[in-house]
Amino acid sequence: MEAQHLPLETSVFIAPVRSAWIRLLQFSRKSNHDGISSTWTFTGRLQDFELSEAPPFYTASYVWGENLHDQSTTTTTTIALESGTLPVLSSLTPFLNMVCAHTDFSAKDWWWIDSLCINLKDTQEREDQVKIMGSIYQRAKRVIIWLGEEREPDSDCTGVTRFLSRLSSLPPEFRTNKALRTKLLEKKLDAQWRGVGRLLCRKWWTRVWTLQEYVLPPEARFYCGRHSISRGKFKSAMYNIHLCSTGSGDYSNELIPRHAFDAAFNRRRIHQWYQRYNGMGLVALMAYLGNQSATDARDMIYSVLGLINEQDRRLVGTAEYTSSVEHIYAKLVRSFWNEYQSLDIICFSHLFNPHSGNLNPPETGGGKAVPSWAPDWRARVEFSSPVPLMVSQSASEYIGNFRPLGSATFKAKYDAPGPNLKRKANVRFDDNLKEMWCDGVILDTVEGLGGLEDCQTRCRSHVCRDSGHEVVQSVRTGQEEGKRADASLAIVQRITRSLVLDRRDKYLRFHALEQYVSSFLVLCHACIANDGCVDNHGESVRPIDELFAVWWQQNKHVRIGLKTMEQHITTTIAASTNPSLFSQIPIPTLQPSYYFVPPSPKLPACDNPESEDQDSYLTRFHDTVRKKSRKLMVTSQDYIGMAPCRARLGDVVAVLFGCSIPLLMRRVGVREAWTIVGEAYVDGFMGGQVERMIANGDAEVVKLRIV
Ligand SMILES: [Zn+2]
Repeated sequence: MEAQHLPLETSVFIAPVRSAWIRLLQFSRKSNHDGISSTWTFTGRLQDFELSEAPPFYTASYVWGENLHDQSTTTTTTIALESGTLPVLSSLTPFLNMVCAHTDFSAKDWWWIDSLCINLKDTQEREDQVKIMGSIYQRAKRVIIWLGEEREPDSDCTGVTRFLSRLSSLPPEFRTNKALRTKLLEKKLDAQWRGVGRLLCRKWWTRVWTLQEYVLPPEARFYCGRHSISRGKFKSAMYNIHLCSTGSGDYSNELIPRHAFDAAFNRRRIHQWYQRYNGMGLVALMAYLGNQSATDARDMIYSVLGLINEQDRRLVGTAEYTSSVEHIYAKLVRSFWNEYQSLDIICFSHLFNPHSGNLNPPETGGGKAVPSWAPDWRARVEFSSPVPLMVSQSASEYIGNFRPLGSATFKAKYDAPGPNLKRKANVRFDDNLKEMWCDGVILDTVEGLGGLEDCQTRCRSHVCRDSGHEVVQSVRTGQEEGKRADASLAIVQRITRSLVLDRRDKYLRFHALEQYVSSFLVLCHACIANDGCVDNHGESVRPIDELFAVWWQQNKHVRIGLKTMEQHITTTIAASTNPSLFSQIPIPTLQPSYYFVPPSPKLPACDNPESEDQDSYLTRFHDTVRKKSRKLMVTSQDYIGMAPCRARLGDVVAVLFGCSIPLLMRRVGVREAWTIVGEAYVDGFMGGQVERMIANGDAEVVKLRIV
């Protein structure tokens, strides 16, 4: 349900509907002949029922239209009731016509259709109905999802539901039979595939309210014109499309535009989660919906109340449309802290901030800003990943994620402050929710940042669009050098871990494998050997994963301690027992299908092909660099890690005691205040090590004021 006011002149709603009550509608149409042409008029009746006593009823899920203040969104269509006439949204009229003409329905059916059954002019009634919205959809016998007419201007979806039915009922051997899959990619089916793409590009998939409307009812059916497909079959079709794409190699064949496919596929995953757990984590869900939108930004929270777990629902409280968006987003952080004694939610401002592509940053005068410690859920994040941030690590109870259901529960591994300091966070908020205080330790200042130019990152930030993703490093004076003189091998190990955020799987369940160091060295060695060497066709002599090669070219000169990364690599290779082996070992690829004997007793073997998640060092590298857009980071004391790509030199890395992930922060204003830039991985500081630093007098606890 979109939250807007209909241009309703006089109320046809005789009395407000009481809490836990709903209004249901029966409607039909009749044809009027005036001798020349015939038109249809709708008649109907509204009746109040206590929700628990209501007769079986249908609900409808549809798109309201962009601007409801615009008179053009309401047609002259009305439903004649005894108490007056009820105006109908123009986007709803074709739906009502379909229902009246279809044999699936009868004039005796009861319907709950939000824009017709709630008096939206009555704020109290609207808030009360939003409160029980989840129960209304759960109680409905079936939701009818209206995707529009088969043929709409610029969107011809003729025959698509039938094609989807066919895809849903492919024989089981489809999974293993490549020939069967190839058959589906034949040219004669191109038009059908394009139709599916067009259907998934329709607005319904991007509206945040439609999510719980789709998930909650026991039965759901999609209608495109008069043709329909059940939710179950639709989900199977999506899964088989997924297998067609991934099973045949990668997404290069692009059966369907990726963003359109993701929207439908993600809904499938959310429905599975809902069925299994009967309630999801609010924050994970909102992050997963980063590519969705709502007419009223407050509904980014309220529209999912019916889908989240009991504890998070309590935390949000009642939907209220009298406070500003900024206040409601900031209040969510405070409620989260009060409920869980955790500030992990602030990590989401890494992705959801005013510098994201679709919002105008506050310094250009664009809109009121939420404080930097509160995620701005208005930001649009095109690629909704099941595990978008380090804080989404598996088994973080307060946040959660959307890893496949097969995964059991795991133990959260990133815990920068550790359990003891977590209890000493001393978090406080000012009354108008502009400032927040938390105790913590400032670890160090960022002195070098690696590059991400041409790495196809998912970053859409304004900041990076202006300044690019170049390497930056401050110049050191002679005396400052060599604060830490770690051996090159130790430095290489730290870089290796950083580049995969010390994890071996994309759901961030397990620590990185030691073998990754060998994989990283072989990749770097191949890049060095390739430098300037091309064959007769201009191709590299030893082909290397393109992303890695591009990344290497711009990052090899990043200085760590006294040497560049490249020098540390060559030193490590030269010190191994058999350096010549490096030119014979197969170069790691995205498929973890190789295994080799390490060239040095100090170095473990490459990725084990038996690894249960089938992730390789390279797939993890892709995840960090391309999907999560993280830059290699070196601090003034030569700590190594990964920074958000909009980091700058001079930003600091801090461990806030209330937050399990270290944060990159920036000083602002005259009175000492800080803003949050995003999550930081700092190798060696991800598991409570600061506690000992404090005990040894190597770190000082400070009270940080964050704005
Ligand atoms: Zn960027």
